[in-house]
Amino acid sequence: MPDYKEELIGVFGHPVAENPTVVMHEAAFAALGLKWRYLTIEVLPDDLENAMKGIRAFNMKGINLTIPHKVNVLKYLDEIKPDAALMGAVNTVINVDGRLIGENTDGKGFMRSLTRDAKFDPSGKKAVVLGAGGAARSICVELALAGVKTISIVNRNTGRGESLTSLINTKTSSEAHFIRWEPGYELPKDTDVLINATSVGLAPDIHQKPDISYDSITGTMVVCDVIPAPATSFLRESEKRGAKILDGLGMLVYQGAIGFKLWTGFDAPVEVMHQALSRAFNTESGG
Ligand code: NDP
Repeated sequence: MPDYKEELIGVFGHPVAENPTVVMHEAAFAALGLKWRYLTIEVLPDDLENAMKGIRAFNMKGINLTIPHKVNVLKYLDEIKPDAALMGAVNTVINVDGRLIGENTDGKGFMRSLTRDAKFDPSGKKAVVLGAGGAARSICVELALAGVKTISIVNRNTGRGESLTSLINTKTSSEAHFIRWEPGYELPKDTDVLINATSVGLAPDIHQKPDISYDSITGTMVVCDVIPAPATSFLRESEKRGAKILDGLGMLVYQGAIGFKLWTGFDAPVEVMHQALSRAFNTESGG
């Protein structure tokens, strides 16, 4: 008997056409011989409630959420995992027999890349995070849960920066400080890890870099970017000062790999996913 049925997952976003996640999941399905499909679905903010009902109606195994749905989706879920509840944002939903469970794998993906690829243990260390948006929130919460000593949160918008600082100080045992971003921000000398969690440097503005004093970066620091590209200007400038660098591709791959395991039950073929993404980014940049 033929069996044409495929298991469905995907992503809801707006705009979503340039989201590359499909590339790595489809490569992973092919590598493991799974009859699964990852769909890239444009969902307008007003249609999110119906789209979430659609997960149950189509018996989809789950969904990723991207801009602008990560916060609004919370009210349509049956359960929210503790880290995601702390962040107030969900990027991965798992459908377990009709129960929609929310998780956030962004910060976890970052931490996996930081510990495995950069071989950096954040416990007891001093971190500086540039930005206070969704990516910064998930990274700061996971850094704090991993026992980082202090986090300096540097942001232009005071409200967003103070809100994240207060979240870390009241809900975790790490100590956070808010620093209002002034052009040419100088890093404290004892910084162990610097993370660009802003959208500066994202395609098509790939030559832009955060406005900090690059001469305050030293060879003892690990410098990380959330921008999923192999060599941003931010990382190149940091490498020139002797810092160890970590790009955002690893974060993207690992956050997807964690979701893949939650949905399929299989360990994700991380190397296959990384290669598929790298190929996609090289093609896009004409490289
Ligand atoms: P948000 O819109 O929630 O936050 C953007 C942040 O960037 C804010 O803190 C904002 O500051 C800051 N920012 C924007 N422009 C500037 C500027 N010119 N100078 C200083 N700060 C600036 O976005 P997200 O947090 O969701 O995403 C941020 C980046 O992270 C994106 O590029 C996204 O692609 C990337 N990302 C990567 C992932 C990965 O797996 N590699 C996963 C998730 C996100 P302000 O508050 O002052 O406006």
